[in-house]
Amino acid sequence: MRPSLLDSLFASASALPGVGPKTGKLLDRLLGEADRPARALDLLLHIPFSSIDRRNRPKVAQAPIGAVSTLKVKVVEHRPPRAKGPWRVLTEDETGDLTLVFFRANSGWIEKALPVGETRWVSGLVELYDGYRQMVHPDRILDEAGLAALPPVEPVYGLTEGLFPRAMAKAAAAALARLPQLPEWLDENFLRAAHWESLGASLSRLHHPQTPQDLAPEEKYVARLAFDELLSHQLALRLVRRKMQVLQGRAQKAPGALAAKILAALPFDLTSDQKKAVAEIVGDLSSEKRMLRLLQGDVGSGKTVVALLAMAHVVEAGRQAALMAPTEILARQHFATLAPLAGAAGLRVALMTGRDKAAERRATLEALASGALDLVVGTHALVQDDVAFARLGLAVIDEQHRFGVHQRLSLSEKGEAVDVLAMTATPIPRTLALAFFGDMDLSALREKPPGRQRIDTRAVSVERIDEVVAGLGRAIKAGARVYWVCPLVEGSEESDLAAAQDRAEDLRKFFGDRVGLVHGQMKGRDKDAAMEDFSRGATKILVATTVIEVGVNVPEATVMVIEHAERFGLAQLHQLRGRVGRGTEKSSCILLYAGPLNETAKARLEILRETEDGFRIAEEDLRLRGEGEVLGARQSGAPGFKIARLDLHADLLRAAREEAEKILDADPELLSQRGQNLRLLLYLFERDQALKLLRAG
Ligand code: ADP
Ligand code: MG
Repeated sequence: MRPSLLDSLFASASALPGVGPKTGKLLDRLLGEADRPARALDLLLHIPFSSIDRRNRPKVAQAPIGAVSTLKVKVVEHRPPRAKGPWRVLTEDETGDLTLVFFRANSGWIEKALPVGETRWVSGLVELYDGYRQMVHPDRILDEAGLAALPPVEPVYGLTEGLFPRAMAKAAAAALARLPQLPEWLDENFLRAAHWESLGASLSRLHHPQTPQDLAPEEKYVARLAFDELLSHQLALRLVRRKMQVLQGRAQKAPGALAAKILAALPFDLTSDQKKAVAEIVGDLSSEKRMLRLLQGDVGSGKTVVALLAMAHVVEAGRQAALMAPTEILARQHFATLAPLAGAAGLRVALMTGRDKAAERRATLEALASGALDLVVGTHALVQDDVAFARLGLAVIDEQHRFGVHQRLSLSEKGEAVDVLAMTATPIPRTLALAFFGDMDLSALREKPPGRQRIDTRAVSVERIDEVVAGLGRAIKAGARVYWVCPLVEGSEESDLAAAQDRAEDLRKFFGDRVGLVHGQMKGRDKDAAMEDFSRGATKILVATTVIEVGVNVPEATVMVIEHAERFGLAQLHQLRGRVGRGTEKSSCILLYAGPLNETAKARLEILRETEDGFRIAEEDLRLRGEGEVLGARQSGAPGFKIARLDLHADLLRAAREEAEKILDADPELLSQRGQNLRLLLYLFERDQALKLLRAG
């Protein structure tokens, strides 16, 4: 049970004072999950990714171009828009002029905020336009009293459409006020040596930075949080590992008759990498040791067949196997691939997702519990409490980094001595894989199945989008199917990111109802329907946000357009590109970028043009950007991590590993006072599932 000391942190964000229902909904969208709202804790751990320094208050003539300044100006004249155009307000100080520009302005509001003849402080980005200084939509328009109340260094948070920075800051402050006094779980000497402050003081500084440097990831405030997070992760991994070592594995031996049947039914031969991976897995399964193996291989490298052969081995040895995928679409696709092959070998297989009808679900549950089913493929519906297996022997977890430690664990806990095969399409250098996934054994599929052609990859400036669209017209006439990926809309409502919806509408002007759309906010069924239409060719162009990132397989798709390619990480671009080139037809990938590109962005696009080897791409990416990016990290944190970034916090990771080992050697059940405090830490970073492994839980 979670200690009640933490209750206020796990209360929903919308219950915080000053957070209205509208903001509450937006926070849920930003920080909540499908099955729970955003909580105060999520707000606290959603630390600002940068800040605006409003202490910079030059005269107009000295205001640096391209930077945020806070300027004291006199309002000279309003120039309402003529036909369309923006509303302009001319202002000045004794050194020069500054034009304030407002698009889609509400005249009443502007005239009230900026009365002619009066002096105001305006804060925002100063730009040069046609030789004149201007500020488009100042972030702040303040009188002297307002200026006095302005935080000198203002935190900048990741936002979602409709959520305003001020509402976010207010919610964060309210969450901070709810933070209870927590006992220290770090070693005092350690803390002193690192010059760190308490978790509470660190969080408080991050949400109220005093200088922009306070937010730097290598600075002590973020470092403290990152270390806490890494330590909780390492403790959880080690608790699991210790438990696994105690639990005997079970030798699952089989002559391989079922695998032979499947191989005979396959229309192709295994690649030598696939053969090697199967041999390694079968070796683990047959031994007394409990398997914990990670199968790495690019999208399209053929992991699914390897998984099937592993599952067949286990079934032949008299037990059941389960494959869990992170999304509904993926689970369905795996099922569609596996079912006929499994059928050829006489295996009984079912699909289980959160959308099964009650009667369907009951039937599947019964068949799993009685042993009438050999295999089940599903989403995390598989780990619900009412799911029981007659004799589960193997848990296969696809795209395993998308699941938490506890979810991975809970599937393997549904049987005795269950072997675990995890799969990932994100190639990860070995050292990092160890850090992230603990002491797993690794198998890798490096070579692509034969018959694949190179994907013609080109970087094209977005200014030439008309040519690209014309080219798509020709390609579609010739029978092609096209993915068009848009970046997720994040940040402010003024964000200029191309929204998938707008793009789909534009394309429909040319291609009518042959354009489909799938995005993250759609309902599961609608998403599936859109995928299905594309898969059977009812639509020819599928505009998508990155929901198609993982696993989806439409061999007929031969063109991939990625809009704002410069905003994606290298690993992500590589994965997206992997959606095409899955059939025998020649495929192409168009990386639409909005210039000017910086050196790193240029180098990234160049690497993509040069190679399709995911491992090489991962290494190059590591070189260019550090580990966080390799692992597909977003703004902050690597997958499964909210704060820690392995590129910047590698030293902390090492220290956390050592510390976790030391802690558990001295206090394996976390029973001491410090152990009790560490339990709080595990709850805070939601690694508390591992505590269930302890006798005194
Ligand atoms: P992954 O899950 O690694 O992204 P899949 O298992 O979905 O890749 O395989 C991608 C495609 O390649 C599938 O259509 C599969 O049937 C095919 N495939 C797998 N192995 C081979 C092989 N050895 N030779 C030819 N095609 C293969
Ligand atoms: Mg796959």
